[in-house]
Amino acid sequence: GNRALFILHDQLNLAVFPRELLDCKPILIFVESLAYAIAIPHHKQKLVYMLSAQRHFAISCHQKGFSIVSLFTEGAYADALEEFLTRYPHIELTYMQPSEWNTRSQMAKLANIFGKRIKALPNQFFIADIEKFKPKIKKGYRLETFYRELRKQTGYLMQEGKPIGGNWNYDKENRKALPKQIIVPEIPEIKPDLITQEVIALVQKYLPHTFGKLDKFIYAVTRDRALELAQLFVETRLSRFGAYEDAIKVGEPFLFHSVLSIYLNNGLLLPREICEMAIAAYEKELAPLNSVEGFVRQILGWREYIRVYYEAKMPDVRESNYFGFDNNLPQLYWDANTDLLCLKDAITQVLNYGYSHHIQRLMVLSNFSNLVNTDPRHLNHWFWLAYVDAYEWVELPNVLGMSTFADGGILASKPYVSAGNYINKMSNCCAQCKYNVKEKTGETACPFNYLYWHFVDKHRESFTDNGRVSLMVNAYDKKTENEKQEIHLFATKFINEIK
Ligand code: FAD
Repeated sequence: GNRALFILHDQLNLAVFPRELLDCKPILIFVESLAYAIAIPHHKQKLVYMLSAQRHFAISCHQKGFSIVSLFTEGAYADALEEFLTRYPHIELTYMQPSEWNTRSQMAKLANIFGKRIKALPNQFFIADIEKFKPKIKKGYRLETFYRELRKQTGYLMQEGKPIGGNWNYDKENRKALPKQIIVPEIPEIKPDLITQEVIALVQKYLPHTFGKLDKFIYAVTRDRALELAQLFVETRLSRFGAYEDAIKVGEPFLFHSVLSIYLNNGLLLPREICEMAIAAYEKELAPLNSVEGFVRQILGWREYIRVYYEAKMPDVRESNYFGFDNNLPQLYWDANTDLLCLKDAITQVLNYGYSHHIQRLMVLSNFSNLVNTDPRHLNHWFWLAYVDAYEWVELPNVLGMSTFADGGILASKPYVSAGNYINKMSNCCAQCKYNVKEKTGETACPFNYLYWHFVDKHRESFTDNGRVSLMVNAYDKKTENEKQEIHLFATKFINEIK
């Protein structure tokens, strides 16, 4: 036929493409772009995952009777497609709007060259209607309002227009510290098959200097396996997801988290089906409401909200730096070489798995970076390359909007910074750390302590719109002159000396 469909590396699911189009059996085009792979030094496991998942998906499409064209280019996606369309002038190409800005711009240029031969479909990998919500994203439009609208729209956990259980939120029952003796169910490691092994060898050979380790690759690369992992999460970890959502344990990267973002973000799994699996578990009394609501809020709420934010704020948001910080990201983010155990543990996990859970990303890695006045754009770059689940549309709003307050408070109401006692409450790091979390200042004091108070004083204006947190500014002001001096002395010294 004359019709071809380009499927991007993060769109690996035929279920979201229009039936009529698939029924015509278009040629499916896949591109492996070296320019994309080396644009930033992506974690090696991310490169392996992206390539292997795409190759597996292409093969599964072929088995369903589609003709496949697999292109390799040293350039960008659009370069390969331009060459292809030039060589085969009878072919008409359809593609789905890319989630990421740069690829979208490339595709738009292609449309300029080939005009009517190119057709773009709206991106169908998300739940929220972009055009409806985009105009609402401004200061003060918070997740909660958005989330409730989507609950009503989807009917998820709703009964006669009201939230099941009577509340929209059960966080009072969540965010507990982990009991000492708790046994964390294991996540099975998927053994790399021949295709994945080939891709691993390719990355090791041609991209040996990018971020992270590749000794052990445990992720699924097909939809079937990813679905099994999702089912296993629902059966063995979802029931405790809510309670221990914010807990950190040294040497335990996954705890009761789903570890599904990787599969959601390239289409192997779809957000609706994962929400529905969790809700079915609640209905079968396999998991309590506080966990299921908490989990659905992450996907239906946060994930969708973050994506609308990206659509509303790009491209200017890329440059945001509200506090005007200009320090480089400390070296320890690249090699985990630090005596601060919470940081060492989180970064070791990132090097080993390209993963750490949400509270480590927010309250350890971003918190510290902000407290030492790192340029948030450097942190943003790091998050983009260091995680297997990182694509610009999702990591950028989380870093520049949520975790560093770089956008000045459009996404979050206050900077997410904390002293050592928060980390101590939520983890077992401090008990084993070289630094003392109880000491406020001094050579052996936990640096988060003086860095935090220094930050609160310096940036007090950013805390004032929120009653709860401006308590901290008052608490700072009540300290003695001597305490204040010590705080600034130690903080300034630490910030100046960290490399
Ligand atoms: P779970 O804890 O099991 O949560 C379930 C799902 O909810 C996740 O799979 C994810 O799809 C969704 N979710 C939860 N929180 C968020 C959120 N804030 N934004 C978007 N989706 C969310 N998530 C990414 O997918 N890619 C990123 O690059 C990324 N970068 C982040 C950077 C920072 C600084 C922070 C604070 C958060 C970031 N997140 C990112 C969000 C979140 O931390 C991850 O989605 C989550 O840790 C993935 O692990 P999981 O699948 O085990 O999640």
